[in-house]
Amino acid sequence: MYDLLVIGSGPAGMGAAIYGARAGMKLAVIDQSPVSGGQVLTTYEVDNYLGLPGMSGSELSDAFRAHADRFEVPFITTEVEAIEDKGTTKLVHTTDGDYEAKAVILATGATHAMLGVTGEMQLAGMGVSYCATCDGAFFRNRTTVVVGGGDVAVEDAIFLAGICKKVYLVHRRDSLRAADALQKKLMALDNVEIIWNSEVSSINGEDMVENVTIFNKVSGESSQLAVDGIFIAVGIIPNTKLLKNLVEMDEKGYVIADETCATSVQGIYAAGDIRKKPMRQIITAVADGANAVNAVQNYFIAL
Ligand code: NDP
Repeated sequence: MYDLLVIGSGPAGMGAAIYGARAGMKLAVIDQSPVSGGQVLTTYEVDNYLGLPGMSGSELSDAFRAHADRFEVPFITTEVEAIEDKGTTKLVHTTDGDYEAKAVILATGATHAMLGVTGEMQLAGMGVSYCATCDGAFFRNRTTVVVGGGDVAVEDAIFLAGICKKVYLVHRRDSLRAADALQKKLMALDNVEIIWNSEVSSINGEDMVENVTIFNKVSGESSQLAVDGIFIAVGIIPNTKLLKNLVEMDEKGYVIADETCATSVQGIYAAGDIRKKPMRQIITAVADGANAVNAVQNYFIAL
């Protein structure tokens, strides 16, 4: 029997692991991937994590993991299939058997959303990508298009501009929602062109992406843009499918939990990108992990 099981090894899970270990809890982190880091692993450069500016996503993930290893936090690599609330005990069912704990912190993060247009599924991996840092190198000196106007889209466009001959950024409105610092970096690049008020309505090509159809929402006209690759960065979807009948969620699937990360079920906490909250950043995910452990400690005192 564990005191605490943390599900997920992104920044929220790692924050919880370090705080839990320092609080003397018997805990383990469960993740389906043996490589810790979650979404941070797919980030080229993280420039807004306090004290560590300009670190690559993989360096920052390694640093988080090394910190947890220093406290000898056990990591279990397996897939969680269901979580059962048995009152003062929580049962975590995995593909490799069951684990029991007095409390659970859910930190399963989020994955990329799909655009939902013709050609997207058919050409996935054939020029359609959701991860610029993973696949960008395949497009050296070629032309790519990024879709979206958030932090990820702008980061992707900046990263690709260093590799590709030309990068288009297609955004559905006339202003970006990405952080100002990122926007400034983007605007300074010669080989990036922003296509405003436009949507990619289809991705075309026989075996590989050849072009995309762009619909201009102002003029109402469609045109073809010749590209070798398309990077889709249109937001995230919380990984909360397996929590459906367990904790209260909003209509988008984010877990409803307050600043203490307490969910609608006693002893179950939600930290990081899966929690309904106004700002999803690495630093706020780590903070959630710490807050959740503090709430677990208070829960144990009240038991
Ligand atoms: P966001 O939700 O911030 O942005 C999604 C973008 O995609 C928006 O510009 C949105 O347009 C656009 N979009 C959504 N749906 C469609 C569609 N169907 N067609 C065309 N465009 C669409 O998601 P991100 O993935 O950029 O970021 C996810 C979270 O991660 C954010 O909270 C972000 O701040 C955070 N993040 C944190 C980092 C850090 O801590 N260093 C680094 C990177 C991301 P519109 O603007 O019109 O809504």
